[in-house]
Amino acid sequence: MTAAVEIKGWCPGARRPMPSGDGLVVRVRPHGGTLSIQALRELAEAARRFGNGQIDLTRRANLQIRGVSSETLTPLWALMDALALLDDSAEIEAIRNIVINPLAGLDPAEIIDMRPVAAALEQHLAADQTLHGLPAKFGFALDGGGRLPLTGLAADIQLKAVGRDGERRMAVGLDREDGVLWLGTTARVDSVGAAMRLAHHVLSHSPTRRAVTLPSDAIDAVIAELRLDASTAMAIDPAATAQQRRGLIALTGQSSVIGIGVPFGRVDSATLTQLADRLAERNVSEVRLSPWRTLYVAADRALAERIITDAAGIGLIVDDADPLMRIDACSGAGCCASTELATRQHARVLAAAMARTRFAGTLHVSGCAKGCARSAPANVLLVGKGSRYHVVRNGTVRSAAQGVLDPAVLDVGASALFETGEKVHV
Ligand code: SF4
Repeated sequence: MTAAVEIKGWCPGARRPMPSGDGLVVRVRPHGGTLSIQALRELAEAARRFGNGQIDLTRRANLQIRGVSSETLTPLWALMDALALLDDSAEIEAIRNIVINPLAGLDPAEIIDMRPVAAALEQHLAADQTLHGLPAKFGFALDGGGRLPLTGLAADIQLKAVGRDGERRMAVGLDREDGVLWLGTTARVDSVGAAMRLAHHVLSHSPTRRAVTLPSDAIDAVIAELRLDASTAMAIDPAATAQQRRGLIALTGQSSVIGIGVPFGRVDSATLTQLADRLAERNVSEVRLSPWRTLYVAADRALAERIITDAAGIGLIVDDADPLMRIDACSGAGCCASTELATRQHARVLAAAMARTRFAGTLHVSGCAKGCARSAPANVLLVGKGSRYHVVRNGTVRSAAQGVLDPAVLDVGASALFETGEKVHV
């Protein structure tokens, strides 16, 4: 039997896959950003059996299986259902767009373990059918603090743990044009209710049904309704960022986690299967997903070095300084019909030039002006137009181009680009 596919042109799900140049893209949303190693292995195998063997790690801490057909979607759904990863409807799946810290419950430096908060929010969102009218991209970020904070992650509604002198509260924030607007704090037990009320206000009062366009009088009304404490006694540290995201991250005593980066967020079935097998051999039970294309596993220090060696041996990134982790590149030619440029192949050439020139900034390689791989500004941005790239510095796909780069002379042109910081026309 063939699945009845409701196809929408954006924001893929499992119940509502997105057509792409290489078939349907099916998104898997692990609850609490956590997968058992067995589930990871089964999904890797499913990508080979039911898709084209390619898997993406997304910026919302999800997995995407690519190259699925309308015939293979049904058995893929059956597998996801058996793994408790298939929602009852596309609406429930879409609304539980929640990101939490990948080390939640593991990190002794965190202020609040966000896993139970995320589970409660998921339940409330699934049960509240009115909120199923929010757009599919509407999302929540729950930041418990600690070594891997979610600072800078865009989401319509944010909850962020704050603490002082043993007291812990939850700051409530809204996405605005210039970043997060923190409205005040509430007690931890009231935080899920506050997020739900805020979502209702956005649905009722925002012309786009996104937080960014919620009018200021509606914001004032919700602050009063929720009785948020707007004092600065528990101010948010806006500069809180991770010291390190890849490799060995020591926690306490002999415990540690290992960050395993995936170049461009794309991994093939064979590599992911090998990783799952190596992790199972090292008695690792689960893997955590993150918004920065890095998987995390917990292990004693004695096993951590072996896991790092295993991951590096199959081409994954355990060196935080690797320039590949500072590059965003969309899938490009072969996967997307909007470009003739092999963006990821070009990005690997550019990574070598970044290392050679000691360029420490960020690079975005986009096959066209849509800019799917990154919305934030990058230090250097190449935007495909026809057979060449337009060069932008410190901007986004909407910024004015300052030069043109021909992929035929990419290596030479890239060195000039990273070394001089001046206009490029090769
Ligand atoms: S940025 Fe353009 S070329 Fe790249 S994946 Fe998106 S639509 Fe395709």
